[in-house]
Amino acid sequence: MTTTDTKDLRALAERAEHELAGASAAEALAWTTQTFGDRFIVASNMQDAVLVHLAYQHKRDIDVLFLQTGYHFAETIGTRDAVEAVYPELRIVNAEAAQSVAEQEAEFGPLNKTDPGQCCFLRKVVPLRETLSRYDAWVTGVRRVDAPTRANTPIVQWDDRNGLVKVNPIAAWSDDEFNGFIAENAILENPLVSTGYLSIGCAPCTAKPLPGQDARSGRWAGQSKTECGLHG
Ligand code: SF4
Repeated sequence: MTTTDTKDLRALAERAEHELAGASAAEALAWTTQTFGDRFIVASNMQDAVLVHLAYQHKRDIDVLFLQTGYHFAETIGTRDAVEAVYPELRIVNAEAAQSVAEQEAEFGPLNKTDPGQCCFLRKVVPLRETLSRYDAWVTGVRRVDAPTRANTPIVQWDDRNGLVKVNPIAAWSDDEFNGFIAENAILENPLVSTGYLSIGCAPCTAKPLPGQDARSGRWAGQSKTECGLHG
């Protein structure tokens, strides 16, 4: 798999941002498959298989990126394994940090408590960047309603931080559309969702959101941090 020149990719993303501004998820994924062939990867935090299911309708042998931080809930790992079983032709790409959790804690102590920004950098941002360097585009499940920081997410954009095209096919989906799609298509969901976890990340940094708060408010609850550094 050979990646395309960054300048060409940036121009492609900037054109597509306008041309696909009102595209449906199916249209965005059809464009992604036609444009990038094997050179894209679909990200999943294994909260549900909505994005994987949508992408699988367009291409079976997709690569699915899972950031294996070593701090996940057992239910999240179980969901990853279930996704692999339900969609057998896809390939899970586990992106891992250079150090194991034990090695990191031995060297730095409990970074997720003392310096969560650095912990996310080591266990998410760096492995993500390394994995994405092998592709021309990545597909994410970011939605505008996730949080105020995501309100202007386009369907296609240039990801300057990682140097590739970023496609957000369900950016415009409301919670009703999203939940309706899960119900109508019997989509696999992380069992934690039904217990009240509406945005699932690493276990030490994930709580259930309080009533009336946005879905991501349970992430790093009580801290100023709101994003891992992956999307903003
Ligand atoms: Fe570390 Fe928490 Fe970030 Fe996971 S979410 S990488 S445990 S700080």
